[in-house]
Amino acid sequence: MKRLSILGSTGSIGTNVLNIVAMFPQEFDVKALAARKNVELLARQIEQFHPDVVAVFDEQRAQELKDHLPPGTAVDIMYGDDGYRTAAAHAAADMTVTALVGAAGLQPTLAAIDAGKTIALANKETLVMAGDHVMKAAAAKGVAILPIDSEHSAIFQCLQGQRQEDVDKILLTASGGPFLNKPKAEFKDITIEDALNHPNWQMGRKITIDSATLMNKGLEVLEARCLFGVSHQMIEVVIHPQSVIHSMVAYKDGSVIAQLGIPDMKGAIAYALSYPQRLPLQQPLPQFDAHQTLTFQEPDLKKFPCLAMAFEACEAGGTLPSVLNAANEVAVHAFLNRQIGFVDIVTVIRQTIDRHPVISDPELSEIMAADQWAREGAQEVIEDLKDK
Ligand code: MG
Repeated sequence: MKRLSILGSTGSIGTNVLNIVAMFPQEFDVKALAARKNVELLARQIEQFHPDVVAVFDEQRAQELKDHLPPGTAVDIMYGDDGYRTAAAHAAADMTVTALVGAAGLQPTLAAIDAGKTIALANKETLVMAGDHVMKAAAAKGVAILPIDSEHSAIFQCLQGQRQEDVDKILLTASGGPFLNKPKAEFKDITIEDALNHPNWQMGRKITIDSATLMNKGLEVLEARCLFGVSHQMIEVVIHPQSVIHSMVAYKDGSVIAQLGIPDMKGAIAYALSYPQRLPLQQPLPQFDAHQTLTFQEPDLKKFPCLAMAFEACEAGGTLPSVLNAANEVAVHAFLNRQIGFVDIVTVIRQTIDRHPVISDPELSEIMAADQWAREGAQEVIEDLKDK
């Protein structure tokens, strides 16, 4: 029986984690849950899974949650950063699933590592911002970080039984998102509804927009670099619109090992939860018949400058990845609130990273300061754009 703390339990990953828990009640026991503000769903999760502890964003949400629970429900309700850290490091949990959205995932993940929990990592921003710190802390505590991101799960699976020194290249696949074949001249007319309409994957709103700009792939390059200890020159992005191959590893002898499956997050989540065991998920296999075609192409960096900027951030290192990430979060948020257009996302990130004096080998406090600096800077660019 594996005992879980699940951060971000009401999001797309979190609800999928709980679906798997519900499918295999003999395998998993939920000890802690954390969410931001969806207290109605969190209340239902508490009634179904009986955690000891839950955490929400603030005191007001904590009160609302109490109001949603039947009187006498036995659960400790906490809130804020302390609440998230407590849920992340809950003494009764063996594994912490970190599926909070954005930079908010970093501190709780570090708290869980510090408490010696195995990490099932869905929050890629944690590694994008402070990958060196996180991997070092995990190594010092002997804690495993198991990826939930489908591409990283695929790479992790392709690396099993292999020697790190035999790896030649990591081939990170990308669907290309909804605008792969849209002419760049039409990008200025893209609406939120267009951008949220991902062809293959059902995901949360923020990551779906990131998939449309290809920033998601850029963040995944930054994530892979830390997780697998490779240089960014060893990572190549391959556009594969069918999303059947979830990523590949090429070895020195010219062999390429790929992981395939239908595009459904359950596979990657279950593998992280039960590693090295595989759960009988009863997922359909990809179709291996005349209807199935697998195609590949190179990413168009001119059409999708977010991916190019992410490679730039990889190369510069230091505080630039966290600045890129923060500027992107603010820009996507503004786009989702109809304050800026789709193409403005690129402008906001470009102008913010261009103004940032990069600090090499930053302390964690310098990373957090750069994150804050970038959020304010990005907001200024947005105000300028709104005035135009
Ligand atoms: Mg992914």
